[in-house]
Amino acid sequence: MPSPTDVETFISRLEDRVAPVERTVREAWWHLATTGTEEAQQDLVRAGMEYNELFADRDEYQEIRGYYEERDALENGLLRRQVEVLYRTFAARHGDRETLDRIEELEAQANAIYGNHRGVVGGEEVGENEIREILRFSEDDTQRREAWEASKTVGREVEGIVRELARLRNRLAREAGYPDHSHRSLDLQEIDADELARLMSGLESATHAPFRKLKEDLDEKLKATFGIEAVMPWHRSDPFFQEVPEDAGLDVDRHFRNRDLTELTRRTYDTLGLDVRGVVARSDLYGRPGKNQHAFCLSVGREYPYDVRVLANVRPDAYWMNTMLHEFGHAVYDRHINPKLPYFLRTVAHTCTTEAIALMMGALAEEPGWLEKVAGVTKDELDGDAERLAARRRADGLVFTRWALVMFHFEREFYADPDRDDLNDLWWDLVERLQLVNRPPERDEPDWAAKIHVAIAPVYYHNYVLGNLISAQLRNHLETRVTGGEQFFASEAAGRYLQEAIFGPGARNGWQDTVLGATGERLSPDHFVKSLL
Ligand SMILES: [Zn+2]
Repeated sequence: MPSPTDVETFISRLEDRVAPVERTVREAWWHLATTGTEEAQQDLVRAGMEYNELFADRDEYQEIRGYYEERDALENGLLRRQVEVLYRTFAARHGDRETLDRIEELEAQANAIYGNHRGVVGGEEVGENEIREILRFSEDDTQRREAWEASKTVGREVEGIVRELARLRNRLAREAGYPDHSHRSLDLQEIDADELARLMSGLESATHAPFRKLKEDLDEKLKATFGIEAVMPWHRSDPFFQEVPEDAGLDVDRHFRNRDLTELTRRTYDTLGLDVRGVVARSDLYGRPGKNQHAFCLSVGREYPYDVRVLANVRPDAYWMNTMLHEFGHAVYDRHINPKLPYFLRTVAHTCTTEAIALMMGALAEEPGWLEKVAGVTKDELDGDAERLAARRRADGLVFTRWALVMFHFEREFYADPDRDDLNDLWWDLVERLQLVNRPPERDEPDWAAKIHVAIAPVYYHNYVLGNLISAQLRNHLETRVTGGEQFFASEAAGRYLQEAIFGPGARNGWQDTVLGATGERLSPDHFVKSLL
């Protein structure tokens, strides 16, 4: 039986070493993102290596593993929880050194190939953005087909690396006693593989009929536009059918032209009683040469007062309004974690819980009620948008879910046997069954390897799905039990509830208990599915 004093000593010694390095890594990350210099890049690599070293010691791994295996004997729940969190942190970095290094090397190679590969359309080399432009706007059938095919040619180039990565990841998994990488990865993410499979299959049957209907409507439009009998993958507006085509009659951007998006973000969170002024002050929100072009939220240290920052490249349009509300959703979560929690629990419960908050907040940018009540758009200005926005939100949810199901099933089969020679068919069987997309005749290409996540963000896609499910379940709870029927974004009671039920507890409980505690029920697809009908 572990002595609580030993466990406490282990943890506090580790905290002393981890805290400063963690801060340095985050500062280096921020520095690189805001300057893009070579020097910042090197600083980050150095700090990252130093951080990984902290969890690489074999003796310490054995020690924490021993505590983990006997954690039920620890009476103090906080101590037990820290052991669980730390064991997973160590286990994720544990394994044969040579295999770990080789994986890192191959991931870097794959990353470079995805970044540098250019397809060819009409004899010219084209990048991803140009391919997207063609698929969105071109009326030329031949050009569209060429562009779609060009979007997949990277698959052949990386296929071998992706298979090798899967074999190596499986090797680590088997050494640790798992059947394959997919099982190991889910376990380290504290997700039960069978339960996830049940959620996914529930989602599949519940979305089947509405998706079929939506897809028929979309296809009718495409047939009319292109004058065709059968819709092929290249008639869609993106290479994998992850998104719904734009609605030409809907211009949400007009509500944000000439608006100050930072001010709208502040106002949105003020309405919930969540002050983001401190975050805004430390943030870097507008575009500049050399700066990272995306957006993210970063919590620099775990010492109170928390130093939480958002990086963005705001422009006055709906995309950036969504992104600002999304990233500040992550930020308010980070800011309100109870500072009295032990160091290693002063973080979010799980990727899927912080994504749930961010998704719930980001979606407001295209919600008629928020546009009217918070952004001050008048009923006249909203015009006929309300119905179109609602239709698009439902369509987005359906299309994304069916695509995510393809990723989920494919990766599960892929890690069960990365050497099988019918992977190309397996991919298209799933695309046909789940997305109802026609397979081009005799197509036998590694189209699965053209999706970057398969190579470098493996077994991750379910987090987006879980985020959607949690977000819908939480919103339902807020609006039926907390706000007295009022829309949550207009309610300070909702903001207080989020602080108490989700943000405050940090990683005190696992994500499932956090969801159960905050919504009164275990996670199910029901509320999300209802929101799509
Ligand atoms: Zn996010």
